Amino acid sequence: MPFRLSIRQVVSRLILIFSISALLGFLVGHILLVMLLAALAIIAYQYKHIFLLSTWLWKTKSISPPDAQGTWGRLFDGLDRLVRKYRRKQKRLNERLRRFRDGAEAIPDAGIVMGQDLTIQWANKRAARLLGVRWPSDQGQRIDNLLRAPEFAEYLEKAKFELPCMLASPVNAEIQLELRFMDYGQEHILLLARDVSKVHRVEEMRRDFVANVSHELKTPLTVVRGYVEMIQATDGEFDAHWQQAFNTIENQVTRMDRLVEQLLVLSRVEVNTEDETKQVLVVPDMLNQLMKDAHWLNQEKHHEITADFDDRVGVLGVDTEIKSAFANLISNAVAYTQANGKITISWQRFGNKAKFTVKDNGPGIRPEDVNRLTERFYRVDKSRSRNTGGSGLGLAIVKHVLHHHNAELIISSEWRKGSEFSIVFAESSVVEL
Ligand code: ADP
Repeated sequence: MPFRLSIRQVVSRLILIFSISALLGFLVGHILLVMLLAALAIIAYQYKHIFLLSTWLWKTKSISPPDAQGTWGRLFDGLDRLVRKYRRKQKRLNERLRRFRDGAEAIPDAGIVMGQDLTIQWANKRAARLLGVRWPSDQGQRIDNLLRAPEFAEYLEKAKFELPCMLASPVNAEIQLELRFMDYGQEHILLLARDVSKVHRVEEMRRDFVANVSHELKTPLTVVRGYVEMIQATDGEFDAHWQQAFNTIENQVTRMDRLVEQLLVLSRVEVNTEDETKQVLVVPDMLNQLMKDAHWLNQEKHHEITADFDDRVGVLGVDTEIKSAFANLISNAVAYTQANGKITISWQRFGNKAKFTVKDNGPGIRPEDVNRLTERFYRVDKSRSRNTGGSGLGLAIVKHVLHHHNAELIISSEWRKGSEFSIVFAESSVVEL
């Protein structure tokens, strides 16, 4: 039951005590003395309880306040209720926290909760096993002080947290991790690290397999081509029917050769070649050379090809890779744009970045196909692509090349109107010539 102490109550109690003590004083003939004794008794009584309260608050470990009668008893009961209420609340909170921690321990990933300044606030046990981050001993440390891999520092600097960061575990270099950053509540960041060694190994096996098979196919193809060319060179020995058959064999061998070559290029650029030396590339010179190739490719279709290159802009990159990316976009425009169509190739500054664009007024690409173009073997129109000798690997190669050149591929296209393929290089890769 709630207890309320009113001034009226206090005053009437004091009046009663002092009236009785005055009456007693009158009876014994010392009114003031008895009233003084009564006042001292009241003060002693109050101090006794203040002392009890202070001892309970600061010294004893008991959660129940001391026993008392009267007003102090009621006050102590109130404190007791308050303490019990907060204990119940705390218990509920602890229970919730325990459930959250059990849940976070149950997930198969390493989980670290950090503040916005990347200081560690909590980590599960797997974080110790996969990342070497221990809680509570590492609490308050910045995550980049503990994970010192250059890939991680670069990832934090780029701050593209929608993409994962691939990293070898600092605890065991054989474990390949995929790190993801997520907003967690309003003030926290959750870092999840997943062991993807198995997927990574399978991916590596797939790449090796494709590279090995492609490599092994090269020799038999060269032998077949050699024989076909030899047969074709022997004039007049075969009738027209056989000549046509040999021409078809030669065309198909050429296609297969190109496919094998592209598969080899793809498996080379798929592996991160960060260690391959990048150099300053004089892009305008490279493009002028590619323009010559485009005109040569273009002999039958007579496209109107225009070029607009900024001579002062270069990039930092691997020569063969950048050249193959540019060449792919140009040869696609030549291959897919109808005869007498228009193709514009440009290389310009784009703010602090640099942009290479190939624009054509060819058949265009439907919006639903645009996002899939960079998948391996994806061809919008298989028959059209086959006619052009396409394999569906060109843009996959471009994507991988750009991935380790700090650049992105932007495709915009309007069905039946034309397409625009652009490569945008980040400021860090652009060089003033
Ligand atoms: P491919 O070797 O078949 O050309 P790519 O990966 O280079 O393979 O291109 C994938 C597909 O994208 C092509 O099959 C083609 O349908 C489409 N494509 C590429 N460039 C263009 C373009 N400039 N205009 C229209 N379609 C294009």
